[in-house]
Amino acid sequence: MSLQPTSTEDAPSRLAPGLYIVAGPIGNLSDLTPRAAEILRLADVVAVEDTRVSAKLLRHAGSERPMIPYHDHSDERVRQRLIERMAGEAVALLSDAGTPLISDPGYKLVRDARAAGRAVTTAPGPCALIAALTVAGLPTDRFLFMGFLPNKEKARADALAEVAGLRATLVTYESGSRTGKTLAAMAEVLGNREAAVAREISKAYEEVATGTLAELAERYAENGPRGEVVLVVGPPSDEPVEAAEEDVDAALLEAMTRLPVSKAAGEVAKKYGLERRALYDRAQELKDA
Ligand code: SAM
Repeated sequence: MSLQPTSTEDAPSRLAPGLYIVAGPIGNLSDLTPRAAEILRLADVVAVEDTRVSAKLLRHAGSERPMIPYHDHSDERVRQRLIERMAGEAVALLSDAGTPLISDPGYKLVRDARAAGRAVTTAPGPCALIAALTVAGLPTDRFLFMGFLPNKEKARADALAEVAGLRATLVTYESGSRTGKTLAAMAEVLGNREAAVAREISKAYEEVATGTLAELAERYAENGPRGEVVLVVGPPSDEPVEAAEEDVDAALLEAMTRLPVSKAAGEVAKKYGLERRALYDRAQELKDA
């Protein structure tokens, strides 16, 4: 039995029952794929984050299908009802923008649909993190998507410290207004790496600013970029960092505000490629001073 919903030559008038994950545009309506539009026209019901936002896309797709609001934190009964419907009907899941489940609802719905033995199909399409990687000019062979970093300073620094030693490009979502602060925190914890700020991708004011984290933090210190933003940060340099003693001390003192001495020494050792034991001794000295 084929669960393939569509092919352009042989468009069905009904979809097979199950869950259809439908990627929508991230700003430019023309990026909706023909297959995604067809699923939106044929689904029995479309689960959406915000009915007002999705009504516009359904109109654009020529869909008059009913919508039902869904969030992963919705009442459990809403999810269970959708899972029951998938036994005999096609349920499409759409987010306000881009690919569902990527910093958007859907994970629990897919998890429970699979557990219940429902068919799960995806109609892939736009996704801001992938789009940003394609224009940033930074390595794409290995990357880590971190979603939105925590707002609180300490939690954000901890989240960054956890990945500081990874040889991978880092990608985060951010709001324009917090961009300057986040870039400054990144420079502090990750070191002054190459980075890119991609904003309003696929929209009229699309722009990609590149530079070191410190340069970009300065650029956006007073006024963040307008609109929606993805931050892309290159991996640590392979060159050993020429660290001035006072920079290492400053990094140790900063890390010790968040971490016990041994962890602070480990974090700074990774950042500068220095020996952990020597930094532990130095951290103790600074602490006792
Ligand atoms: N599911 C979406 C996706 O596939 O990319 C992401 C949804 S998340 C709630 C929204 C965040 O995605 C925004 O705060 C911004 O960081 C990023 N984003 C979405 N559209 C964007 C665009 N056109 N340009 C830049 N960033 C965008």
